[in-house]
Amino acid sequence: MAETRATDDVRYAGIDIGGTKIYTLITTADGTVLGSGRKKTKSEKGFEGVMERVGKCLNEACEDADVKAADLRAIGVGAPSPILPDGTAVHAPNMPGWQNVPLVPALAERLGRPVYAENDVNAGTLGEYTLGAGRGARTLVGLFMGTGLGGGIIYRGELVTGENCQAAELGHMILQVDGRRCGCGHRGCLEAYASKSGMGRRFNYEIGMLGRPSRLEELWEEKDYSNVKSSVLQTCWEAEDELVRETLGEACRYLGIGAASLITALGPDRIVLGGGVFEALGTELLPLVESAAAAHTHPPGSFQDTRFVLAELGDDAVALGAMVHAREAAG
Ligand SMILES: [Zn+2]
Repeated sequence: MAETRATDDVRYAGIDIGGTKIYTLITTADGTVLGSGRKKTKSEKGFEGVMERVGKCLNEACEDADVKAADLRAIGVGAPSPILPDGTAVHAPNMPGWQNVPLVPALAERLGRPVYAENDVNAGTLGEYTLGAGRGARTLVGLFMGTGLGGGIIYRGELVTGENCQAAELGHMILQVDGRRCGCGHRGCLEAYASKSGMGRRFNYEIGMLGRPSRLEELWEEKDYSNVKSSVLQTCWEAEDELVRETLGEACRYLGIGAASLITALGPDRIVLGGGVFEALGTELLPLVESAAAAHTHPPGSFQDTRFVLAELGDDAVALGAMVHAREAAG
């Protein structure tokens, strides 16, 4: 009994460091959320400035949960960068000054507790696998469509990060040789079609260059559509806007064909679809992804062994996955 009580008392923190906000959850060992904290990242303050903001956000969450930071068993961090085994964050394009920065050592020293970090999309995938839409799966692929197209792979319980610690960048699998330009510099990446930035390129061309009519023109005042909100896409979809329906249909077709290749390569029993676009329009888009995937897997019947589901954790996925990563690493 004493041992059970001791386990019940264990507390963890999961911290999601994003380009615009830092979000912290305090949880029990089984992932029940006891409190939260939220701070603007202020990434322009550089690495040390962001570390200070992380400390403040953790304190706020601890206060909310009525837990002392010193009593936390371990702290998990999800960050928008590949993470090396020694805790170095290699590069984070949206975070000025983040080039080979000592993320884990800096936070462990500042926070005084064991810290474990993982790439944010990997953490989100782990969160869904353990506490969300992936529960009960063994091999899972997460595909998250927002501004970009994030991906994560869990193979029989283990996150796949590769020998280079940078694997599972599923948005940059090339699906169209010499295709549409991607933000990474290559052409024809999945992200160039199946993401808001990719769809935005098509909107910019069709509305701006060809003068094609769309509700987007009245609902999105900026001339550049590459930052268009998911809620605006949802409104246009519901109004049966032809351009938006065609473009989201194209995005789902590419995503389904990408998913089919992942099924052919890995044979996952589950694929989780998440991110802002699926949070807004998941029920409508899921069948489009499934039908494209079903038509492109090999062997042809193998699609039947994979279940497509919508993500369940929303904005909590990265923080919860970071907490799970810390819980498993701390033992
Ligand atoms: Zn790319």
